[in-house]
Amino acid sequence: MQSLRLKAIDNLTTGNTDVNVEGVGKITAIFGDNVFTLKTARDFLSDDAYKSLLASIKNGQKIDRNVANQIAAGMRQWAEKKGVTHYTHWFQPLTGSSAEKHDSFFTLKGDGTPLEQFEGDALVQQEPDASSFPSGGLRATFEARGYTAWDPTSPAFIMHIGQGLTLCIPTIFVSYTGESLDYKAPLLKSIDALSKAAVDVCHYFDRNVSKVVATLGWEQEYFVVDEGLANGRPDLVMTGRTVFGHTPAKGQQMEDHYFGSIPERIYAFMRDFEYEAYRLGIPLRTRHNEVAPAQFECAPIFEELNLAVDHNTLLMDVMSRVAKRHKLKVLLHEKPFAGINGSGKHNNWSMATDTGVNLLAPGKTPKTNLMFLAFFVNTIKAVHDYADLMRASIASAGNDHRLGANEAPPAIISAYIGHYLTKVLNEIESRVSDKFDEQDEVMLKLDIHKSIPELLLDNTDRNRTSPFAFTGNKFEFRAVGSSANCALPMTILNTIMAETLSAFKAEVDKLIEKGDKKEVAIMQVIKKYIKASKKVLFEGDGYSDEWQKEAAKRGLPNLKTTPVALDPMITEKAKKLFEKHNVLSHTELEARHEIELEKYVKIVQIEGRVIGDLAGNHILPAAIRYQNVLIQNIKGLKELGVKAASYKAQMDVLNEMSEHIQKVQVLAFEMTEARKKANALSSARAKAVAYCDKVKPYFDEIRYHVDKLELLVDDSEWELPKYREILFLR
Ligand code: ADP
Ligand code: MG
Repeated sequence: MQSLRLKAIDNLTTGNTDVNVEGVGKITAIFGDNVFTLKTARDFLSDDAYKSLLASIKNGQKIDRNVANQIAAGMRQWAEKKGVTHYTHWFQPLTGSSAEKHDSFFTLKGDGTPLEQFEGDALVQQEPDASSFPSGGLRATFEARGYTAWDPTSPAFIMHIGQGLTLCIPTIFVSYTGESLDYKAPLLKSIDALSKAAVDVCHYFDRNVSKVVATLGWEQEYFVVDEGLANGRPDLVMTGRTVFGHTPAKGQQMEDHYFGSIPERIYAFMRDFEYEAYRLGIPLRTRHNEVAPAQFECAPIFEELNLAVDHNTLLMDVMSRVAKRHKLKVLLHEKPFAGINGSGKHNNWSMATDTGVNLLAPGKTPKTNLMFLAFFVNTIKAVHDYADLMRASIASAGNDHRLGANEAPPAIISAYIGHYLTKVLNEIESRVSDKFDEQDEVMLKLDIHKSIPELLLDNTDRNRTSPFAFTGNKFEFRAVGSSANCALPMTILNTIMAETLSAFKAEVDKLIEKGDKKEVAIMQVIKKYIKASKKVLFEGDGYSDEWQKEAAKRGLPNLKTTPVALDPMITEKAKKLFEKHNVLSHTELEARHEIELEKYVKIVQIEGRVIGDLAGNHILPAAIRYQNVLIQNIKGLKELGVKAASYKAQMDVLNEMSEHIQKVQVLAFEMTEARKKANALSSARAKAVAYCDKVKPYFDEIRYHVDKLELLVDDSEWELPKYREILFLR
């Protein structure tokens, strides 16, 4: 029987894989037409209902039952016009993807008459069974049931799945006792906490600010491969990454893929998912090839954080679905292929006031520049004080392959601010004296003000190796994994920023009380923060060995693997922080910590099983078949009396192969034993550490021998599609 590999290759050459995608026309004509935008709401809601919805979005005001009924009715009317029959609460449980439970509008009246209906209650709350979602021990202590609750700040949308249309209501997901079971609930709380703290600091500069929103623009990297070839790789199907595969003769060394022309088949796929995205109101802006072969990136225009997170989660889902139509497979894993670049998701983050000011953009006047400096320096201080939490927020089994692997930001959290800002901070540090007087103030403010326009030039001064870089008017958190939900790292960033800003305000107020002028007090604390957080700034090559040494000298943590990188989540310091800002309770933190550990264990466990299966069922059978061919060949030559020196090549290959076969078999057995031992451990952390330190090391060892066999065995016998095929055939 022909292997899936050869069938897929055959199909690529003879089959028709092209899907015709028609032109979209003007994007503005379709943008958001599957979204219940405020504009749509205006058309379908009464004045009262519309006003109430608006107030809830803008100021978090509660929507009463009666109004909720009206909004639900308006939504249904709009959705039915488009052919929608079902609705679902759409939420983001801690598994990392999105979840839905569809209900129809259809119901029966008491007398049995059929009726279409969507009431306020159904809009506001739904009760999916929470017992199958990860809850990290919360279930043992709390009620098993959970419910989803409407988040009016993210608009409802219509999802097309094949011919089926569903009205999706973005919601949070909480247990009956109020513990959050998802990514969105704490995110929303952290957005509030940040707004409060940031507004307070803004008031030093502008009393008109009443709200600050966090903004996010993500850049999503991904791989796209032929579905047929991917299906021939049980490892890709089961784990999203290849556990074996010899480096192809050509990898990314020619650097010909980055920003190269987009292959036709991928281009059709991109246009297709972009079309869906536009209709869902996802403002995609850029598309291009990435560094590795078969790797690409897309990025939207930035949005208010909560919406941006929903849009990223939604897009990952849309991309995967649309890929199927094109007989392609999207790989969102952080490291689908060894030896070539992995994928990240850069999170561009900033804060904006309701008066329209980006708080991380240098201003036009000395006053706005001082405000910029305050927020800028506070961000650095936050990163300095809570680098361990930032590291924890991006820890995952997938990202472990990427961080610190000489092609991605290291596991050490540092911030890059560029040449000019470094100069500005140094100047403040050296020139602001403790007896800082008003004359100093005027001089410094003018000097800083003069040098700040140069910062914009600094935007070109790029450092790709920093995990957290200032890029002109925002910070870019680059160490986030490509498959991650942005909510977790953003929740951490908002919370540590809220904490730092409120401490900043307390210090400034104290100085003002003592009689300092406001600007003088602000400058003093800025200076203090610059001094205190200096060691987290790094402008050099983050990929270099020198940085590893230097960072160790500076005392910066360098936690390379998930089980230990997660520890900072449950320290007393973290518990106090999250409780103070009402983002996560102690129990919720403990639960999340456990869920992340369990997730890690499951992933490594599945990978271990897949490695065992593939070695036993695919690799060794093919290798032994070819071993037999060699044996027959050598025997025959010997029988014919050919002298041994003449079949030395066959003997060498046979010997080499036999050794690798032996090794694969023995190591796979040992790995299984290590797994059994790890499984017997009871604490989640101990298990995760055992999987990391005792099981995972076998992966590379086994891989080494399998990849050698791939080079030795007759190509036609090899069953798993090879790297050169997966990465270069389309
Ligand atoms: P690059 O980082 O590749 O130079 P850009 O600077 O254009 O690209 O932006 C990358 C991402 O950062 C985009 O999604 C963009 O919308 C986003 N971005 C720009 N300004 C902000 C901001 N103030 N807040 C959050 N994201 C932003
Ligand atoms: Mg960028």
